[in-house]
Amino acid sequence: MAREAIYQQSGDDDDHRDDPGAPQTIQDTRLRPSQMQEMVGQGDVIERLRIAIDAARSRSEPLGHILFDGPPGLGKTTFATVIPHEMGTSVQLASGAGLKAPKDLIPYLTNVEAGSVLFIDEIHRLPRTVEEYLYTAMEDYRIDIVLGEGVNARTLNLELKPFTLIGATTRAGMLSAPLRDRFQIREHLSYYPIDDLREIILRNAAKLKVKVDEAATHEIAFRSRGTPRIANNRLLWVRDFAQSRAGGKVTARVAVEAMEMTGIDSLGLDKQDRSYLDTLIRIFDGGPAGLEAIAHTLNISSDTLEDEVEPFLLRSELIVRTRRGRMATSKGFEHLGRANPR
Ligand code: ADP
Repeated sequence: MAREAIYQQSGDDDDHRDDPGAPQTIQDTRLRPSQMQEMVGQGDVIERLRIAIDAARSRSEPLGHILFDGPPGLGKTTFATVIPHEMGTSVQLASGAGLKAPKDLIPYLTNVEAGSVLFIDEIHRLPRTVEEYLYTAMEDYRIDIVLGEGVNARTLNLELKPFTLIGATTRAGMLSAPLRDRFQIREHLSYYPIDDLREIILRNAAKLKVKVDEAATHEIAFRSRGTPRIANNRLLWVRDFAQSRAGGKVTARVAVEAMEMTGIDSLGLDKQDRSYLDTLIRIFDGGPAGLEAIAHTLNISSDTLEDEVEPFLLRSELIVRTRRGRMATSKGFEHLGRANPR
């Protein structure tokens, strides 16, 4: 029987893994699947995990350490909470940015129960000293604790209960090779096809007790950038809009009107995406333009543009990155209804 999960969360106020401007909410937790069988899509990943879980359970051993990588909102945290549920064990949640020194990690490691899970989100943000401290914990289930200071300092070698570390990262490339290699299972989560998003929206509409017709489900799915968290956020907004303005029933017309009111267009671009594209086309004649120049013009940091705006524009084939700078594609011009001078 599954034991109560221990939720011990380290603070990370500037954590913006979500849809820009949409931090994790209580609703996010409410809509999160609590069992693996409730998860939609990612079939290959689920199948491999089931095999690993079955094998570990039949040997009565902890599951090997697991690393999930992929863009925000695709289910890394969800996997980290359903896996302990399948294993019938507890989970502690921590965030890489909140673990600033090895001492911050000690309470988590000493709290682990045999076979339980320690989840570290945004694990690439761990400082090197903390990362190195994890190595022996992961490999030998041991840590050194320094007691006292100066000449009186003593090192205590502490044995830990065997546990499973689940790491999640949006930037696998930033992980050091020694840390990466200590994970026995590595899974990459990719964007969800429309049909999976529709299924997620349908299930969550039922959880929220809101009527969403098939055409509306499609409209919301289509504008959700392949990302369940964004689909949930869109659904929640559309539900509010429908309840306030349309008698509670979500039709395609209501869904489109609600999403357009917040600047979400037919491809799922938001206001910020469109002003990037508009700047590239109107001010820089479609490019090539350097990222810094675009960032200065929009008065937004180049990191934000690179992490939160460009990936979707690139994926939607509205812009390309060339050696000379960013350029709008014919599709980009067309999407804004502008003639392509090239
Ligand atoms: P990440 O940790 O990758 O940023 P999360 O696991 O927090 O993403 O997922 C965000 C939300 O999206 C969850 O709260 C959940 O409601 C939904 N979600 C993610 N993956 C799935 C899935 N496979 N099936 C159903 N809902 C999902």
